[in-house]
Amino acid sequence: MIGISVLGSTGSIGVSTLDVVARHPERYRVVALTANTDVEGLASQCLNFRPRLAAMADEESAARLVQRLRDTAPEIEVLAGDAGLVAAAEHLEAEQVMAAIVGAAGLLPTLAAVRKGKRILLANKEALVVSGALFMREALEHGAEVLPIDSEHNAVFQCMPGNFRDGLERVGVTRILLTASGGPFRERDPATLTEVTPEEACAHPNWEMGRKISVDSATMMNKGLEVIEARWLFDADPSRIQVVVHPQSVIHSLVEYADGSVLAQLGNPDMRTPIAHAMAWPERHASGVAPLDLFDVARLEFERPDFERFPCLRLAFEAVAAGGAAPAILNAANEVAVQHFLDHRLGFTAIPQVIEQTLASLEGADAGSLEGLLQVDREARGVAERLVAARV
Ligand code: NAD
Ligand code: MG
Repeated sequence: MIGISVLGSTGSIGVSTLDVVARHPERYRVVALTANTDVEGLASQCLNFRPRLAAMADEESAARLVQRLRDTAPEIEVLAGDAGLVAAAEHLEAEQVMAAIVGAAGLLPTLAAVRKGKRILLANKEALVVSGALFMREALEHGAEVLPIDSEHNAVFQCMPGNFRDGLERVGVTRILLTASGGPFRERDPATLTEVTPEEACAHPNWEMGRKISVDSATMMNKGLEVIEARWLFDADPSRIQVVVHPQSVIHSLVEYADGSVLAQLGNPDMRTPIAHAMAWPERHASGVAPLDLFDVARLEFERPDFERFPCLRLAFEAVAAGGAAPAILNAANEVAVQHFLDHRLGFTAIPQVIEQTLASLEGADAGSLEGLLQVDREARGVAERLVAARV
């Protein structure tokens, strides 16, 4: 039996992960589950999967969870806060840790799992965007396998040669082509983007996801974060990473080789495929995803990304080129701006403006250590909050 901890188990990725786990009861055992404030959601998952440990992000929610489980599952240990999330990530019985908390809030527990040498099923792209160099260095030091869950990166991983860590140039990889659906506003009149509502932004044409990543897909910051994620996962020079808009979301990404070959991974847009792939790797097992029907798909289309319509994509390319603390600042400002947009306090087109101004005001920040990065993250959030406050 393989022990698995699921960080962020009540979210979109967390629920899909437990769906795959439930298809293989002879193979996986859930060791720990965590959630932010959804006590009911976590309680019902606890009754279904009987983990050793459950953690909530705050004390009050944890106390409510203890109450909920008192009669039905008193044997489950309930913890709270960063210490609880870290305990779930580090649990001795967990060989695999699904990192599916959204945002930089997932960084500390994910890094804790890295330092214990676990297999990391990495959905939490923000953790890597914030701490890229440090994260990958620690993974190497502690022998942690980092397997990408993000569908594009999982596709790239599947199309890479087994020895890609020897260096892309050496193994003959010339480019990584990340596909992007283009989100819900690919064809909308740009002049009307100022009026976009959170509900419209969250209505993604092909994927059902949490609200933050849905807004990121609508601004295309999601693809920007993914360029940075690919840079670290595959040690790729950013100039070798290209974004290709592909509205059908059937090709999940591609790898180009020196001999002209281009390998692609295809499938129905359902996150259970990359989740099952990373859990079973290097083997394969069922995920519950329906087989791809190419006759149904019929057509595959490709377009160049529009950097003017989607300034967030440009900002992310600039941040990865600048290096240092820029990606951490970009990420923090984006998290703040997106939350205010979701709360109807900031317009859709103001999101990139807040990010650009935050980046400009924090040039030259320190990114060498975890403490430095956490400090940069806090400062950038402070600047972005003040910029938003000054607008309303
Ligand atoms: P979600 O909002 O549906 O779920 C987030 C989970 O994290 C929930 O369990 C929530 O309780 C928990 N959480 C939120 N804030 C927290 C905090 N401050 N402390 C502790 N726990 C917290 O998000 P999602 O769509 O499942 O995405 C999760 C991650 O996976 C994100 O980083 C996202 O970019 C990435 N991802 C998601 C998809 C997708 O299809 N949903 C695809 C690729 C990558
Ligand atoms: Mg993705």
